[in-house]
Amino acid sequence: MIRQTISSLLAAGVLCATAHAADTELNLYTARHYQTDEAMYANFTKATGIKINRIEGKEDALLERIKNEGANSPADVFITVDASRLAKADELGIFAPLESKVLTERIPEHLRSDTWYTFSTRARVIVYNKADVDPALVQNYEDLARPELKGQVCTRSGSHPYNLSLGAAMIQHNGADATEKWARGVVENFARAPRGGDTDQIRAVAAGECGVAIANSYYVARLINSTKPDDQEVVKAVGIIWPNQQSWGTHVNVSGGGMLKHAPHKQAALKFLEYLASDEAQAYFANGNNEWPAVAAVEISNPALDSLGEFRSDDLNVGLLSKTTAQAQKIYDRAGYR
Ligand code: FE
Repeated sequence: MIRQTISSLLAAGVLCATAHAADTELNLYTARHYQTDEAMYANFTKATGIKINRIEGKEDALLERIKNEGANSPADVFITVDASRLAKADELGIFAPLESKVLTERIPEHLRSDTWYTFSTRARVIVYNKADVDPALVQNYEDLARPELKGQVCTRSGSHPYNLSLGAAMIQHNGADATEKWARGVVENFARAPRGGDTDQIRAVAAGECGVAIANSYYVARLINSTKPDDQEVVKAVGIIWPNQQSWGTHVNVSGGGMLKHAPHKQAALKFLEYLASDEAQAYFANGNNEWPAVAAVEISNPALDSLGEFRSDDLNVGLLSKTTAQAQKIYDRAGYR
């Protein structure tokens, strides 16, 4: 009799729900590599009593791990940078569909799917050496292929997701042929073979080794906010351009995440994702890591973001970038953009 009662309760999900409501920990797989995120996680634990076990890794390695762990995966939430990666994770079926009024109300529609949500955005900007380059020459990504810029262009590897997503956006706006022609032109214009991260490109522009480079906005903002004299010298030497203001807008990428299908702590996962959309966490993304909050109304206090000002961003749905990322990689390979 008792056994029957328990099994009918189980069938109704009552016992499970009670067990989940008492989640005291959360397993977070994250590919975000920013120290300032730690303060945000600590605040979540303070507010909820839920301990976060953080497993950090490279984006693809974490995704592979989640796939391999399958139904036994301890992962509750996966957070990563780059919209194409989020969409790819979604295609692999690792995320659980979520029903959250908080998330659908707070995160704009073009920055989410049914399973993953953007929590912050960053723009891919053009940086130029103020003494050496006329900014009128590089108002658009397309201009990086202009013959006038021969021997002047620096970027990180073409295989990096930041550049692949930019290529993916260009394919959708300009077509594959034009993008391939562009990629060949960029390679022709290289000051040096791609190496290092975005900050290395900005420093190389300041040093005059390169005339122009592409970099994510938060790396620029980090230098602007830095109190180190070296960084301030870099900031003084470079100018920032919001590309493509007269055409399809500046390319924007995201950081985001979702709850995993096999999450052992689903209630905690939901609480955590909703926390990431809260005013407090959103302000952390902006004030701590110089990104823009996905929740537009959130008030931020970051002098560097203020000084960068307003711009027109590409309004392509970020979830669609993944449709042309593989094609972008093939184009870059053919163009020799390694
Ligand atoms: Fe980055």
